[in-house]
Amino acid sequence: MSSRIKKFQRRISKSKHKLRKYSEKIKRYTYRIGITSPYERRLIDNNQPQRIFPCNIGILFNSNFVKRYYEAFVAYLEMVYDSCFYNIIDLGHHRFSKMAMKKGIKKEIYKGDIQESSEELLLHPTNKFFQVLIDKRTEENLDMIVTITKLPIYSSSDNNIIFLFGEANIDHRCSIVSTLLLKEQFYKRKRNRTLYELRIIKELIHEVGHLILGPNHCINEKCVMSFAHTVEDIDRKYIGLCQKCQEKLENLKYSYNF
Ligand SMILES: [Zn+2]
Ligand SMILES: [Zn+2]
Repeated sequence: MSSRIKKFQRRISKSKHKLRKYSEKIKRYTYRIGITSPYERRLIDNNQPQRIFPCNIGILFNSNFVKRYYEAFVAYLEMVYDSCFYNIIDLGHHRFSKMAMKKGIKKEIYKGDIQESSEELLLHPTNKFFQVLIDKRTEENLDMIVTITKLPIYSSSDNNIIFLFGEANIDHRCSIVSTLLLKEQFYKRKRNRTLYELRIIKELIHEVGHLILGPNHCINEKCVMSFAHTVEDIDRKYIGLCQKCQEKLENLKYSYNF
């Protein structure tokens, strides 16, 4: 009798396992075609990688315009995080499907410096990007991944932060940089390409920095790892780590033996 029960229990647990597998498959499919969005549920990451260094990182682009800076991104990442990466891979361009684009959008009225020029912004939840990044990171067998998008974003985990320059998800080894708020034109000021490029690079170094050095911000406002409330805060930073953060990086290198 007891052996029959055991057999039955084994069958149930097998079916449970199968069911779980299928439900994850269906979830992924619905994300992909845009019926549901990852922000509505928890992120799926079956291949959460270990923290290892040196490692491979990929850059996924969400706008063709920023792709021209790829070489500069590589040069600065290699300069600041010296020998942390084996490879910095260009993952090309990702475009959301029309349906996925509409998902999770939050409308926000932005009032520019000139009162009558207030405009409506459509903000996208960061989890929408994180799920794409997790899938891509897994597919490409990378240790970490970052995306640069021109779409404005809001944090999926904290409703208080309305506008964001970027966000890092340390557990899932991925981060996002959003370029819209880095443009001078956004603040109704004259276009400044050099400033824009510098800001993107600083934000990229900052968000990747969280994946390497952890979630904390540096109190030195010149350090790239300090928190930026405004673009002026970003402009105050230099493209590099302060002495304290540099020491942190050296300790990490020492502990991973490279
Ligand atoms: Zn930060
Ligand atoms: Zn610092």
